Order: sequence, then C-alpha cells, then structure tokens
Amino acid sequence: MQNIELSNYSELVDLVTSIVREKISQKQDLFDASYSIPVGVSNRHIHVTRESLDVLYGKGYELNPYRYLSQPGEFAAKEALTVVGPKMRAVENIRILGPIRSFTQVELSLTDGIYLGIELPIRISGDVKDSTPVTIIGPKGVLHLKEGAIRSARHIHMTPADAGNFNVKNGDEVRVEIAGEGGVIFKNVHIRVSENYKLDFHIDTDEGNCANVKTGQLCKIVR
Ligand SMILES: [Zn+2]
Repeated sequence: MQNIELSNYSELVDLVTSIVREKISQKQDLFDASYSIPVGVSNRHIHVTRESLDVLYGKGYELNPYRYLSQPGEFAAKEALTVVGPKMRAVENIRILGPIRSFTQVELSLTDGIYLGIELPIRISGDVKDSTPVTIIGPKGVLHLKEGAIRSARHIHMTPADAGNFNVKNGDEVRVEIAGEGGVIFKNVHIRVSENYKLDFHIDTDEGNCANVKTGQLCKIVR
C-alpha cells in the first residue's frame, strides 16, 4: 500500500465523497416517499366466457387457480391456451385469468402482435368491439374469434379513497413516472376506481422491460 501525504489524503477523501454523493443522488428517487404506487407487470393472458370455456376445455369445465393476483378475487388459472395468427405462427401456453368473464379477450404485447402478424388496438379490458380477430386453441376445441385480441391500455387500479388522495377520478388519464437509471414516464395511463380494487399500476411485459421495472417496484403520478 502506498503512503499518502496528508494533503493528498484529504483530496482523496473529497474525491471519494463527491463520487458517493453523486451515486446516491442518482438513486435518491428510489427512496422518495412520493413513489407510492406498486407496479404490476402483466404477462400475456386470456379472459374467457362460460361459452368459450365450454368449447376450449369441455362443457361445464371449471378453472383451477394457480396463483391469486393483486386484484381481489382474480387469479391466474392452471389452464392455458394457444393463440394462432394469420402467419400460422403460434404463441403457446397463455394462461387464462379467472374468474369467468362476460367477454372473451386475448391480451398480448406489441412484440406478440408482430410475431403473430396481427395489429393490436390499445383498449381498456372488456372493450373488445371491433378489435382484432384471433384463433384460440384449447385441449377440447378451437375458437375463431371475430374480435378479441387487444393490447391492454396502461391503467392504475385504485379505491375511491386512493383517488381522493391522488386527486384523480375514474376515467382520468395521467402520466406515471418509473424511478431508476432506466426509468421512463408513461403517458395515457387510465385511472380505474372501484371499492373492490387494490392500488396497482398495470403495464405489459414490453412496457415493463422498456422501463427496466419489475412487479412490486413503486412509481408515482406526475402532472
Ligand atoms: Zn389491471
């Protein structure tokens, strides 16, 4: 080890201190209390009606929960399906998200759409009218949907109390900032308010990767 003269030593301390300060300030937003909304990155998934499940898995078949999700009562099922597009390419093993819905809908990422050869309109879940046709294959049958494939619009689930705290209302669109070195600001984030919701910002896997963010990290609404 080299001997450092006192004057050089204090310069060295100053240098190290300034480097550490800069590094901490870059990460500061990760510890900022204003980042209070958990991020949930949603994998591609499918919602089904009773009638669709009858075709795909057999009459009267019941879904089996694999893992419960952030929103109360919602679960990823053990049951999965294959989706085929016009290029005859397939995306396999897409989980059904229960419970049974009043619509059948395939939520894919932009990357999935490019792979399958289909354009995906950005929609709030359930708004499938005139969305993209798609073919779904299950173990017991095949469904040719005239509409149903979408990209999910970015959204935040929250309770009326949360909405009061954030000064937003159902149907508002806001911007959301993801902290960190690879962080981004998302535009056109829909606010969805219900007594039954739990606070969570939902994006798809393309968006999660682009923002270098994982489920559970905190984000914030910016004006
Ligand atoms: Zn959601």
